[in-house]
Amino acid sequence: MIGCSACLLGVACRYDGASKPDNKIIEFSKKEELFRFCPEQLGGLPTPRPRSEIRGDIVINEHGEDITAFLEKGSEKVLELLLQRNIKKVILKQNSPSCGCGNVYDGTFTGKLIPGNGITTELLKRNGIKVVSEKELFQE
Ligand code: SF4
Repeated sequence: MIGCSACLLGVACRYDGASKPDNKIIEFSKKEELFRFCPEQLGGLPTPRPRSEIRGDIVINEHGEDITAFLEKGSEKVLELLLQRNIKKVILKQNSPSCGCGNVYDGTFTGKLIPGNGITTELLKRNGIKVVSEKELFQE
């Protein structure tokens, strides 16, 4: 079993109340069992919710509120769920402050990407779980 950001599978869990279905991932899920999760919902944030970005060591939303604790709680919950299921690999939605892998927005809410990982990605990688973005999955 492989873990996967729920929004890629069509779950409407994004900040704007929408999903981000990826047809290749949905096709892939017909052959491989995918365990879906949304770290931000698991961390206790509502949907919809204000947009958020990583700024330095914290995560702020577009109203300037520090929501780091919610994303950290969600990442810990994801790690717990993956370990319970012995899942060693996950596909995470690129650029998100939780799920981003390799690039995240720079904290200015201007659409600028910088190198970095989301909060969940960092925690999973530190715990030996392989993380790929939805784009990288098919380049392996
Ligand atoms: S936290 Fe991850 S799973 Fe949830 S909406 Fe954002 S990118 Fe998708």
